[in-house]
Amino acid sequence: MTSRPFNFSAGPAALPEEVLTQVAQEMLDWHGSGMSVMEMSHRGREFISIAEAAEADLRDLLQVPANFRILFMQGGGLGENAIVPMNLSRGGKVDVVVSGSWSKKSAQEARRYADVHIAATNASEGQRHIPAAAEWQLRPDAAYVHICSNETIDGLEFHELPDLKALGSDAPLVIDCSSHQLSRSIDWSRVGLAFGGAQKNIGPAGLTLVYVREDLLGHALPICPSAFDYKTVAEAQSMYNTPPTFGIYVAGLVFKWLKGFGYAGKTGLAAIEQRNIDKAQLLYAALDGSNLFENRVAASCRSRMNVPFYLRDERLNDAFLAGARERGLLQLKGHKSVGGMRASIYNAMPLEGVQALTAYLRDFEAQHG
Ligand code: PMP
Repeated sequence: MTSRPFNFSAGPAALPEEVLTQVAQEMLDWHGSGMSVMEMSHRGREFISIAEAAEADLRDLLQVPANFRILFMQGGGLGENAIVPMNLSRGGKVDVVVSGSWSKKSAQEARRYADVHIAATNASEGQRHIPAAAEWQLRPDAAYVHICSNETIDGLEFHELPDLKALGSDAPLVIDCSSHQLSRSIDWSRVGLAFGGAQKNIGPAGLTLVYVREDLLGHALPICPSAFDYKTVAEAQSMYNTPPTFGIYVAGLVFKWLKGFGYAGKTGLAAIEQRNIDKAQLLYAALDGSNLFENRVAASCRSRMNVPFYLRDERLNDAFLAGARERGLLQLKGHKSVGGMRASIYNAMPLEGVQALTAYLRDFEAQHG
């Protein structure tokens, strides 16, 4: 293991070093095939074995039920903002809960294809809380309800998915889980479709994961491109067009890494979830205990993955970032739309990375506070 800096990028984000090392070792000759994975036919037996193992491992890790299809697509989260309404809206009604920047974007894009209604929003209170489910104004005939289960920019996370049935709605729930997929388990009984780009917890940008319940296939609008029709993609085992082969390969290695991951007496997804809880607690405790730094999200809605924070004296921002870089703490600058700082602490971030960050917060405050 080399000693690389700790990378807090929101995405594309840090990957496990073991995976990067294996990718480097296999770059010129994958398993004696004489080819790089980048050079293989997606229809050859080598790549098909890679894709099948990746899908099986992902299904196993997330306990994805048999009546869900896992699709390896392209287009990212923003692509899905159009692809979902083209496949699921049937040209009808879509309800969206706006809990931050990404769900707001999803609502805007869906308006091009459907009658969109904002069922709830936290815009007026500065994105500190997720709107309480009991107060959502859901329409009885909505084709689906969209939420962003982790708001990457604002740092809010649903710690429990809403039970739409209990709220009197039969609509399927669509979740944009881009920035926390595979960081915790998912209650599939509450979900109709989940999507997310790979570039946070899973692998390189360019691969998009879609998990879709089978009864939602086959309803695409006529304008939907064939390559984005979930039914077409599902029937072709994600090989209707050339899939992002290298991304699927790296994702597959990340899944293997995760299956073998151990922490606090647990293994696999339970282990990574526990480590994510511990990392987030450590960081929020340091911020809450400080007079210089602050996180503004209500404690019950705070994201385990993306921790935005502000220096109460913003004139110190540049000095803070420069000092962080010197200590090997990279990419801590907040999203340009909200300013301040943001530490993204995805699966690949070790506990030591968060400990190094909290030590720096303390030292910086001692110097400047
Ligand atoms: N949704 C969420 C929650 C995101 O974090 C992002 C990217 N940061 C997107 C959507 C957009 O994804 P992409 O850039 O892959 O289109």
